[in-house]
Amino acid sequence: MTAPTAAPLPQPDLEAAARLRALPPVDAVLAAAAPLAEPHGRAALTRAVRAALEAARDAIRAGRPARTSPADIAAEAKALLEAQARPSLRPVFNLTGTVLHTNLGRALLAEEAVEAAVAAMRQAVTLEYDPAAGRRGERDDHVRALLCDLTGAEDATVVNNNAAAVLLVLNTLAAGRDAIVSRGELIEIGGAFRMPDIMARAGTRLVEVGTTNRTHPRDYEGAIGPETGLLVKVHTSNYRIEGFTTEVSPAALASIARAKGVPLFHDLGSGTLCDLARYGLVHEPTVRECVADGADVVTFSGDKLLGGPQTGFIVGRRDLIAAINKNPMKRALRVDKIRLAALEATLKLYADPDRLAQRLPTLRLLARKAGEMEALSARLVPQVRALLGPHVAVSACPCRSQIGSGALPTETLDSYALRLRPDGGGGALDALAAALRALPVPIIGRLEDGALLLDLRCLEDEPAFLAALRAVELPRGLA
Ligand SMILES: *Cc1c(COP(=O)(O)O)cnc(C)c1O
Repeated sequence: MTAPTAAPLPQPDLEAAARLRALPPVDAVLAAAAPLAEPHGRAALTRAVRAALEAARDAIRAGRPARTSPADIAAEAKALLEAQARPSLRPVFNLTGTVLHTNLGRALLAEEAVEAAVAAMRQAVTLEYDPAAGRRGERDDHVRALLCDLTGAEDATVVNNNAAAVLLVLNTLAAGRDAIVSRGELIEIGGAFRMPDIMARAGTRLVEVGTTNRTHPRDYEGAIGPETGLLVKVHTSNYRIEGFTTEVSPAALASIARAKGVPLFHDLGSGTLCDLARYGLVHEPTVRECVADGADVVTFSGDKLLGGPQTGFIVGRRDLIAAINKNPMKRALRVDKIRLAALEATLKLYADPDRLAQRLPTLRLLARKAGEMEALSARLVPQVRALLGPHVAVSACPCRSQIGSGALPTETLDSYALRLRPDGGGGALDALAAALRALPVPIIGRLEDGALLLDLRCLEDEPAFLAALRAVELPRGLA
């Protein structure tokens, strides 16, 4: 067979073939990259060098420019190794203006909680051990008394989060039975927590009563029958129904429940243990008030307004908590020693309300006065202006922060922001926001009125912020 006569290659491909042949061998690059073996390990280094060579080959084949000296390929390998070494879950500057930002990890823990968690990670602990008696103890024992003290409830237990708490309550007290809920309270919380779906998974039959805007005592009374397992009240955490509305108060619902001999379950959502009005915020029903109003079981979150680690609480009547603890699902939803240690330390801070706002970061940030952020913005504007150069207008402006995590959704807090406006409109604005997110410690703001706002409410470490910003690589056109 005669070889087909190859059409003459176009000139650039001939050049490409020569450039491919000229790429250094792996060993030569490894020699140039030798110092990287110590921090990253030989195997990872070899993989990175091969990947960098492959990337250079791809670039040459595609006709793109590629630097190909051993030192250049070694530098590529170094960048790859550093990108791999960077943790995926890493700190950011939350300048979104949402204090309890679910996607950014909600509450920041108090130093006391951090220390307790670290100690529990390093050492064996009395997780389920009673050292005085020398025998098995219970996980909940570390926080039960604290929770009862803080809420006025008879008994308490802790699980993975409030979603788990709701699931466990419904499954224990109303599996195969009816749970009666107002149509105005069939909530969806971010992350696909929908009350009707949770009820179905808990094995509970949802019985909806009333309408979206109005539910009356007679609606509940009319629905209660032999199949009823629970009356359910859900705090409409993340929305408000306004206008022509009526709901049955927790106290009124409790008296209906008592008269009919059916337990009342109140999912309080965020649930606060202190009167927020004391710290200049709007009053939100406390867990204690909810218990005093007659709910038999109350559930709430650990990492929302409470300011602790991700946990869910179930507090209430002793016999009901005992039944909940006997549910085999409890074992699947329990918390680990790290969070339990952080939780105990967090709850102990509540014993001293006078110092709570200093020690609990979530509360400190929520209670921060706009004047403080205004002074911070005045200090930062000239420095940020110098770092971002002549193509980004930097100014300070008043703005509104929000609490987040569905707590007090219609309340906003006076704050101050840095307002960044790049030359060149929308594309440039997105590119600037992306450049700040691409930093080793990403700076995350929010886009509003054609500008990138960096709400300063959650910025406490000014030097760290400026140091982070110094590394910014401005997009072309703004550099
Ligand atoms: C937030 C919330 C939940 C879910 O709590 P997580 O701790 O996020 O699991 C459930 N119910 C209500 C009313 C909530 O606000």
